[in-house]
Amino acid sequence: MTAYDDSNIFARILRGEIPCERLYEDEFALAFPDIRPQAPRHVLVIPKGKYVSITDFGAKATAEEITGFFRAVSLVAEKVGVAGSGYRMIANAGPDSRQEVPHFHVHILGGRNLGTLLVTP
Ligand code: AMP
Repeated sequence: MTAYDDSNIFARILRGEIPCERLYEDEFALAFPDIRPQAPRHVLVIPKGKYVSITDFGAKATAEEITGFFRAVSLVAEKVGVAGSGYRMIANAGPDSRQEVPHFHVHILGGRNLGTLLVTP
């Protein structure tokens, strides 16, 4: 696995060097809208810690960080109004997934019926 790169765009958002609309923030996570939304509601949730991907996060994060992060994901889904209607949570990891930003993040997509396809044919 590649080493964490402090210059990635989400690290810069966490440091306040690049602006974002802070939809939710606590000691474990930050949530902000995706800049290229693929659904009426498309939000990213990122951990505060330096993890390249969910693989890295699952292997190295503390139990407190993992619990705190996924609690934040649930809170964000409530806060942006998709918990009741439903949503899809996606975490890209590594080249075949086309992960673009090497700081672990989950996408929360909702606000419409998302269909049954999980991947592009
Ligand atoms: P992934 O392919 O899972 O790494 O997704 C990265 C996501 O980050 C893409 O959906 C981008 O649209 C989004 N993104 C990139 N830069 C920004 C930014 N400055 N603010 C918000 N979203 C961003």
